[in-house]
Amino acid sequence: MSWEDNVRRVTPYVPGEQPKDGQKVIKLNTNENPYPPSPLVVKALSAFDADKLRLYPAADVGPLRDAIADYYGFGSDEVFVGVGSDDVLATAFLTFFNSDKPIIFADITYSFYDVWAEVFRIPYEIKPLDDDFHIKRTDYLCPNGGIVIANPNAPTGVSEMGDIDFIEEIVASNPGSVVIVDEAYVDFGGVTALPLVKKYENLFVVRTFSKSRSFAGMRIGYAFGSSRLIKYLNDIKYSINSYTMNRPAIELGIAALSDDEYFRKTVDAVIRTRTWTGEELKKRGFAVTDSKTNFVFASPSGISAKELFCKLRERGIFVRWWDKPRLGDFLRISIGTDDEMRALMDAIDEIIGKSEG
Ligand code: PMP
Repeated sequence: MSWEDNVRRVTPYVPGEQPKDGQKVIKLNTNENPYPPSPLVVKALSAFDADKLRLYPAADVGPLRDAIADYYGFGSDEVFVGVGSDDVLATAFLTFFNSDKPIIFADITYSFYDVWAEVFRIPYEIKPLDDDFHIKRTDYLCPNGGIVIANPNAPTGVSEMGDIDFIEEIVASNPGSVVIVDEAYVDFGGVTALPLVKKYENLFVVRTFSKSRSFAGMRIGYAFGSSRLIKYLNDIKYSINSYTMNRPAIELGIAALSDDEYFRKTVDAVIRTRTWTGEELKKRGFAVTDSKTNFVFASPSGISAKELFCKLRERGIFVRWWDKPRLGDFLRISIGTDDEMRALMDAIDEIIGKSEG
C-alpha cells in the first residue's frame, strides 16, 4: 500500500498552448478577444487604489453581482459570479449533479465537462451529435442526473438556433434535474435561454466576460438561476473558498459592463471578421460550420488538419487541433484582428496553394 493509492487521480483538461515569454505569435488558439478591454476599464485600472488590496473583497461579489443583475434585469439573488465561467461551471457540477443517474452531454462539446465529471465522480453518459453537429433532442428526454448543453457549442461553433423552444422542451421535460446551458459564446450571435430562467427553477445559464468583453485575463464568469438554485450554489462556494473574486476584478468588471457601446462595437467587429474568414476559407476549399461564436471550425481539403496545424505553428500562427474521433479533420481558429486573419490566409496559401474560386 502506498500513499499514491489514496490520491484522487484525473486526466486534466488541456488548455491551448501559451506562447513562451518574448515569442511573437498570432494567437488564434484560445478564443480570446483580439481587441483590448473598454477604455473605461483602462481608466478604472489606473485609478485603482492599491491600498485596498490589504482588505478582503466582498465575499458575495456584491457590487459586480448587482451590476450584472441590473444589466440583465434579474434580482441579485438570481445571479452568481465566479473566477471565470470554468469556476462557475465546476461549482455548478459539484452542487447540482449529485445523483446516481448519469448526467448527459454531447460527444463533441467543451472538453472540460467530462473532466469535472471525473474529478467529482459524477456518472455521465455521452450523446453523439448528429452529422451536422446538432443535438438530437430525444437524447435529452430520458432519465438523467443532470444535463449540460453548450449553446453555441464549442469547438463546433454551432448554435441550436431556431428558437429557444428546443431548450425549453428539455428543461420542462426534466423537472427532476438541473439543466446547465453554457452560453460562453452567445454574445456573438447565438440565441439565449435567459428568458426561461424566470420560468423554470431547474435552469442554470452560464456566461463569461472572457470572450465578448475582452477579459480572459481577469477571470470573470457569471450565471443566472432561480434564487433557490443560486442559494445551493453559494452554500457550496462558501464551503470551499468565500473570497473567490479579487477586488480589481470586481471594480474592473463593473467598468467593463458600463461601456455598452464599446461592447457592441467590438462584438460586431469580431462577427464581421468571422464572416470574412469563413468566406475566405471556403474559397480555399475548407468545409466551415455556421459559427455563432468568436471562432470558426473548419476542415481543410488537400491537406490534413494535423499537418496544416503543424505548418501554421512553424510559421508562428497558433490554432487548435484535437487528435480525437470526429474532430481530427478540423481546426478551430479563433477570430483575430483583420490583419491577423489576412496573415493567416497568406500562410494557408503558402502552405497549400490557393485553389481557384
Ligand atoms: N465554456 C466554454 C464552452 C468555453 O469554450 C470556455 C473557454 N475555454 C469556457 C466555458 C470557460 O471560459 P472562462 O473560464 O474563461 O470564462
